[in-house]
Amino acid sequence: MVPLLEHMDHPIPLEQVQVGLMDDPHINAANAGGGHFYVTTGLLEKANDDQLRAVMAHETAHADLGHVAKAQRLGAGLTIGMVLLDQIIPGSRALTPIAGQLIQSSYTRKEEYQADAHGVEVLQRAGYDGKTLMANTLSWLQQTEGTSGGGFFATHPATGDRVAAVRRLPDRPRTSR
Ligand SMILES: [Zn+2]
Repeated sequence: MVPLLEHMDHPIPLEQVQVGLMDDPHINAANAGGGHFYVTTGLLEKANDDQLRAVMAHETAHADLGHVAKAQRLGAGLTIGMVLLDQIIPGSRALTPIAGQLIQSSYTRKEEYQADAHGVEVLQRAGYDGKTLMANTLSWLQQTEGTSGGGFFATHPATGDRVAAVRRLPDRPRTSR
């Protein structure tokens, strides 16, 4: 996840980044602003490295595009406990309970498309094949979670259109830094 954070338009200082683990069998990830991210145990159990990377790129993109701050102003959060997660940020201090807000059901469809596109761009800047990673991961999410009524698609409105939109994106980042 560190290479993604370094290639944001507005990089989050690593010392501000904390990743919390939610005990939830659904595949999901969220973002509480201020460099605080959440992943579910379901995501860690079911996703491979590429899928985890694409999901985190999407969440990072929501932060980079200002969606998180907007959602927080709307008061759409749910307060939960969280812990640091050494699995995603190696070297983070383990298991420190802190409080945060989970943004739920508050992104618009347009913001989802934007986060997919910007997530692809951040992946590309970091040297990954962002289009393939994002398109394959969205397809995988749809297959594994699409009919469960929970998880990623409960908080990230989505259809197969998102996969098609990702495949139409440029093969290279529009801007490089
Ligand atoms: Zn999203």
